[in-house]
Amino acid sequence: MLLEFLFPKTCVGCGKLGVYFCPSCSQRFSLASPICPMCGSGSIGGITHVRCRRPLGIDGLVALFAYREGIQVAVKRLKYRFVREMGEAFVDLAHKRIESSVVSYFQRDSFRVVPVPLFRTRERRRGYNQAAVLGEFFALRLGLDFAPVLARVKNTQALAELQVRLSSNEEKAIEEKYLSLAQRRVAQWKLLAEKKSRLRADEIRGAFKVSEKFKVQNAKLLLVDDVWTSGGTMLECAKTLKRTGASRVWGLAFSRGGR
Ligand SMILES: [Zn+2]
Ligand SMILES: [Zn+2]
Repeated sequence: MLLEFLFPKTCVGCGKLGVYFCPSCSQRFSLASPICPMCGSGSIGGITHVRCRRPLGIDGLVALFAYREGIQVAVKRLKYRFVREMGEAFVDLAHKRIESSVVSYFQRDSFRVVPVPLFRTRERRRGYNQAAVLGEFFALRLGLDFAPVLARVKNTQALAELQVRLSSNEEKAIEEKYLSLAQRRVAQWKLLAEKKSRLRADEIRGAFKVSEKFKVQNAKLLLVDDVWTSGGTMLECAKTLKRTGASRVWGLAFSRGGR
């Protein structure tokens, strides 16, 4: 195959030829610690804390590998030099690491797998949606239905790349309020983080639409994506699905960056 010739199959960790994930690297990839997807702090099994539950919120998150080293390389490769076989290798690797109790939970309640969509021009340019490829293979492995029912109707900027800065008025207000430099730094950092999350929320709001409503109403859904970073994208997907009548929504991310 031409692509194989251009981009020979090599291990993302050590470069060994002939595999995407060699056995010794596969053993070494660290798992991300489970977090509550609503507040980002630790939670057993990735279940949303009782205090963090919201009617349109997400109910839990399985985020598998820590987004660093070989896993980071792998996710970038999945986006930019695609071979379908690579998607399958990702899911093989991930499937072994999903707790069996979580798998039986998804199976018992007949969750449907919904990939996080790309905007159509971006998908056309790339030729595929990596989340959909992962979603298809996850559905197959877990024995769940694959239901690509979300569409992205807004071409959002990459949330991680959104830039924010403080206005001179905001800077001044902080200077007036705090005397010590250390306190000012903390206050600036906090305000920046707040502005960033507000900007992300504004950017992603209304970005998704449900196409086949009957597949969503009263359904339990498992959103699939390659990376969970701020969570903004999946949270907005979950909100859209719940508004359409989904009874429960979980996220499944191949990897997790950030905190
Ligand atoms: Zn290796
Ligand atoms: Zn929480």
